[in-house]
Amino acid sequence: MTGHPTAAPPAGGVADRPTPGRATPGDVAGRADASFRQRYAAEPAGCWAAPGRANLIGEHTDYNDGFVLPFALSLRTVVAAAPAPDGTWTVCSEHADEPVRFTVDDLVPGRVTGWGAYVAGVVWALREAGHAVPGARLAVASDVPLGSGLSSSAALEAAVLAALVDLGGLDLPTGRRPRLAQRAENAYVGAPTGIMDQSAVIRCRDGHALFLDCRTEEVEHIPFDLDTTGLTLLVVDSRAPHRHADGEYAARRRSCEQAADLLGVAALRDVPTDGLVTALTRLPDDATRRRVRHVVTENQRVLDTVALLRAGRVREIGPLLTASHASMRDDFEITVPEIDTAVEAALAAGALGARMTGGGFGGCVLALVEAASADAVTAAVTAAYAERGFAVPGLVRVRPAPGANRLT
Ligand code: ADP
Ligand code: MG
Repeated sequence: MTGHPTAAPPAGGVADRPTPGRATPGDVAGRADASFRQRYAAEPAGCWAAPGRANLIGEHTDYNDGFVLPFALSLRTVVAAAPAPDGTWTVCSEHADEPVRFTVDDLVPGRVTGWGAYVAGVVWALREAGHAVPGARLAVASDVPLGSGLSSSAALEAAVLAALVDLGGLDLPTGRRPRLAQRAENAYVGAPTGIMDQSAVIRCRDGHALFLDCRTEEVEHIPFDLDTTGLTLLVVDSRAPHRHADGEYAARRRSCEQAADLLGVAALRDVPTDGLVTALTRLPDDATRRRVRHVVTENQRVLDTVALLRAGRVREIGPLLTASHASMRDDFEITVPEIDTAVEAALAAGALGARMTGGGFGGCVLALVEAASADAVTAAVTAAYAERGFAVPGLVRVRPAPGANRLT
């Protein structure tokens, strides 16, 4: 039941957005469609897509009941699928050597492992929620790099979920899908992620960021239209190996929970910005004070970013992004040299703002740049990496794109 996905093809250079809509042979939808036909010698009943996501701002605020502001990427995962009359599930992926097949007996957490667990987890979570899930054959293709912090896992879950809901004619409104996909990842795969990734890849809208209150799960679509502003976003895949990411993540989480206990609040979200200085005097050590300062100031930066975007002042969010990075580097201590190098090089080459996006200890950097200087920033980051002897970074230009949808 296992399978080892290979790494995504290198992004190298500044690739641009795939066009949504109809499949062409070389694009991701065309690849999923072709892979289905080849593997199963049959026509798929349809193709369903879900994007990767980047978090514009609001890092490590989710589990503190705070705010995040992700947007969907134009990089997508596509699933071509059709019902399987024998009631089993078979899935293949261009990122895996072998297909994974499972039956209803395998729908027990821990039974299907490896990448197939993300698919089995969705079937499991749907059935746990009382839905009669049809057996299916699925073929997956993806432009979202795997394991880079752009949420290929949520993209896979969301695309599979959309396919199964439509194939089975299940009654599952969009607003209830993020929780279900998160349950698949938390309880079946066993990865303790928050609600942000699945919310973003399912609920985001084209040209908007998703302002998500992680306590209430309320969302608001905030206009974030780069096309009309002459701006672009660059995602830099740092290609840094994830160093102790799981242990460090757990340690940060624990530290925040302990601080909330000491301060007598349900979560750090309840520490107001103007109460921060007083709160810090009640904490026992410098490391805890810095962790709390990051979370409280980061929540405020999300609110400030939302206010600027609502007012159409997109360029002015740059300094907030950069301040967020400094806070992650100095107070939350979750950045690594490759990430800091990409941020510094992008800023030195004229980026309006740059920050690490994602949980940290590797992953990606997001830089807001004038479209006209995107090539210069790309060249500067690539040169800075070469100078330091780091692996060649992946650079891709992205724009806020739609969430999961049916393509054909
Ligand atoms: P991220 O979500 O940041 O990309 P994760 O570690 O959460 O990183 O998820 C990556 C894992 O998700 C992969 O190792 C693989 O198991 C699974 N996965 C995601 N997309 C695909 C895909 N298209 N094909 C096969 N497995 C995938
Ligand atoms: Mg993930």
